Amino acid sequence: MNLNKNYENLEQSYLFSTIAKKVNEFISNNPDKKVIRLGIGDVTKPLCKAVTEAMHKAVDEMSIQETFRGYGPEQGYDFLRLAIQDYYRKNNVELDLDEIFISDGAKSDLGNILDLFGDDNIVLIPDPVYPAYVDTNIMDGNKIVYINANEENGFLPMSSEEKADIIYICSPNNPTGAVYNKEQLKEWVNYANKNNALILFDSAYESFISDNELPRTIFEIEGAKTCAIEICSLSKTAGFTGTRCGYTVVPKELGKLNKMWLRRQTTKYNGVPYIVQRGAEAVFSEAGMKEIKENLDYYKENAKIIAKTVESCGIWYVGGKHSPYIWLKCPNNMTSWEFFDYLLNNAQIVGTPGAGFGKNGEGYFRLTSFGSRENTIEAMERFRKLFEK
Ligand SMILES: *Cc1c(COP(=O)(O)O)cnc(C)c1O
Repeated sequence: MNLNKNYENLEQSYLFSTIAKKVNEFISNNPDKKVIRLGIGDVTKPLCKAVTEAMHKAVDEMSIQETFRGYGPEQGYDFLRLAIQDYYRKNNVELDLDEIFISDGAKSDLGNILDLFGDDNIVLIPDPVYPAYVDTNIMDGNKIVYINANEENGFLPMSSEEKADIIYICSPNNPTGAVYNKEQLKEWVNYANKNNALILFDSAYESFISDNELPRTIFEIEGAKTCAIEICSLSKTAGFTGTRCGYTVVPKELGKLNKMWLRRQTTKYNGVPYIVQRGAEAVFSEAGMKEIKENLDYYKENAKIIAKTVESCGIWYVGGKHSPYIWLKCPNNMTSWEFFDYLLNNAQIVGTPGAGFGKNGEGYFRLTSFGSRENTIEAMERFRKLFEK
C-alpha cells in the first residue's frame, strides 16, 4: 500500500495550541486576574427559536411511521433549496434549483470541490488566509501561488498578470474582515473569464454585510456565472457551527462542472440530516431572519466597539464593519506574537496572532466580536488605557 505523500508536505499548525498553552500558563501564574478572550473564531449565541422549533417538529415527524424519512436527496431537499433560491432572489440573483447543493458546511465543500479538477492547475491563494484553502490543496498536490494581501492594498489583493486556473476569494474575509466592493469583484470576474479560470468564492460572512452597495454573493457581478462557484454556510449566519449546514452554488453556465458536482455528491455523500435541513429552512423564514438579525447585530455592535477603540488609539486596522473580525497592525512595530504576549500580560486580552494565517500576517493581529458585550467593553477599556495617545 502506498500513502498519499502530499500529506508530508503539510505544515503543522501550532497557532491555537500555542495560544492555549500561553493563556493557561498566564492563568496559573495569575489566578486573580480576569482574562478576556477576543480570539474566539466561533459563534457564541445559541440557535434562534424559529430554528429549534422547526427542528423539534422534524424530530417528531421522524418518530411517526407516516412522516418518517430515510435517505433524502443527496443534493438537499427542495424545501430548503427553494428557500435559498428565494434568498438569492433578494439580491437580484436568479438560480435554478439544480444549481443549489446543500452541504454539511463550507469547510467540507471547500475541500471536496477539488475532486472536480485535474492535475497541474495553478491555484491562486491570498496570504493571509483561512488555512483550509492551503491545506486541502497541499493534500491534493496542487501548485499554489500566493498573492499578497497587505496594508497597501487594504488586504484586498487584486489580479495581476500572473496565470492562474483556480482562485480563492473570501469576502468578507477571515482573518482580515476586509470586504471587496462590486468594482473589485468585477475585476476578478473579468480576469477569471479572460483566463478561463475558476473562482471559488467563500461567502461564509455575507450576512455581516449591512451596506447594500457591497456584494453579498459573487453572482451579483455580471459574468460571474461563467467563472465562479460560491460556497456558503449557515455557521456564522445563524450559529450552525455545531449543527452543520451550508450550501454550494454551481451555475450551469460553468458547463460540465454542475453535472460533475452532482455526480460527485451522489457518489460520495448522502446528504444533510432532514432535521437539520428543516432547521436551516427556518433560518430563511420571516421569523428566522428577524431572530438571526438580532444576533448578528449583537456581534456587529461588539465589532464596532472594538474598531472604534482601535481607531481612537491611532492604530491602523481593517474590518470591523461588515465582519466579526478586526485586523489591526501591532503597535510599536511589535511582531504578532510579541503583541500577543504584551496584550495578555498588560491587559489580559487574548487575540489571535496574524502570523498564524500566513507570512503577510506577521505584524498584524485579529480580534473578534464573538465575545459578550460586557467583556468586549471591559477589554476595550483596558486596551484604550494601554495605547491611548
Ligand atoms: C467559519 C468559516 C467557514 C464556515 O465553515 P463551516 O464548515 O460551514 O462551519 C468557511 N469559510 C471561512 C473563511 C470561515 O471562517
